Amino acid sequence: MPCSSPAGDAEGQEPATSPPVTTPLTIHIEATDGAARVGRITTPRGAFRTPCFMPVGTRGSVRTLSSRDLEDLGFEVMLANTYHLMLRPGADVVAQLGGIHGFAAWPGHVLTDSGGYQVFSLSPKVDDDGVTFRSTYDGSVHRLTPEGAVEVQGRLGADIAMVLDVCPPLPSPPAVVRLAVERTAAWAERSRRAARREGQALFGIVQGGVDVVLRKESADRTVELGFDGYAVGGLSVGESRAEMLPALAAALERLPADRPRYLMGVGDPVGLVEAVALGVDMFDCVLPTRLGRHGTVLTTSGRIQLRNAAYAVDGGPLDPECACPVCQRWSRAYLRHLLQVGEPTAPRLLTVHNLAWTLALVERIRTSVREGTVAQLRREVSAVWQ
Ligand SMILES: [Zn+2]
Repeated sequence: MPCSSPAGDAEGQEPATSPPVTTPLTIHIEATDGAARVGRITTPRGAFRTPCFMPVGTRGSVRTLSSRDLEDLGFEVMLANTYHLMLRPGADVVAQLGGIHGFAAWPGHVLTDSGGYQVFSLSPKVDDDGVTFRSTYDGSVHRLTPEGAVEVQGRLGADIAMVLDVCPPLPSPPAVVRLAVERTAAWAERSRRAARREGQALFGIVQGGVDVVLRKESADRTVELGFDGYAVGGLSVGESRAEMLPALAAALERLPADRPRYLMGVGDPVGLVEAVALGVDMFDCVLPTRLGRHGTVLTTSGRIQLRNAAYAVDGGPLDPECACPVCQRWSRAYLRHLLQVGEPTAPRLLTVHNLAWTLALVERIRTSVREGTVAQLRREVSAVWQ
């Protein structure tokens, strides 16, 4: 897509319509334990359970896996990166082939990010209207605006789209974090008014760094606009957990209870449990898949690095307590061997295990909310992973 003009121009002349009065998405809370909640989100596509972990299908698939693998593992929502898909193969191609659902043959839900996170990592030219960046694929120049980001996610066919926001790295000077909050608020308002594909939900994003006052302000300004759900962005970008959790709590405290809350970019065991305890419903993270590809395995007794010589003749499974297809069949020694000799099967199988393990942890979290034992689970997970 040659792009000196906003992506939103591509679809033509249709003027921005006023926001839909009815939301395409509802959340039904089935049980709570303190602020933690378990429930179900319903969209025109169907329903998925919360808390929910979304694996990241960067270019239309989770690296080394197929959509069939995700389905077999029991995932209900896949995250796809707008930035990559709008550049390769292009949103028009994906749209012609039925959106991401048709293109990737994925029957579950799809949430797309706005593309902003990747774009901002490329040192783009940012102005009040939008952001201009170069493609990492061929160096071509592209432009993303709040309206264009909504439009391109419509063409990708996402069930849930995200507003274009400004996510500064941490630590950043206060003026930078303040400017990010201001631009995010102004862009959220434009995104809210932008023409949107019917039935597509749109989430606003709270920014504010680790400043609890700014987080509350950003949350209030986002909620005022009335989105289908709310994400907390700009966390897990370099700050400590001790800085992250108060900022997250400050944002959550201002978000409405009857809308989904999504913590972007967090998926480590302690992060998942602590954020659910504060009231988060949705997560995405590349951590389980990225670690798996590099030989790091998540287990109930902590991380192990499978390349370690100690596993060379270890006939046991990756995690004796894991019910995943990899742990049912192959030994640490065999998987380590595949990794050591560079067989592509190794990253694939380790990705399957790490994702299944993460999903099992999320299931354990759901059960603990229903049983009122979240505090105990927090202690157990911290004892292993802190
Ligand atoms: Zn396993």
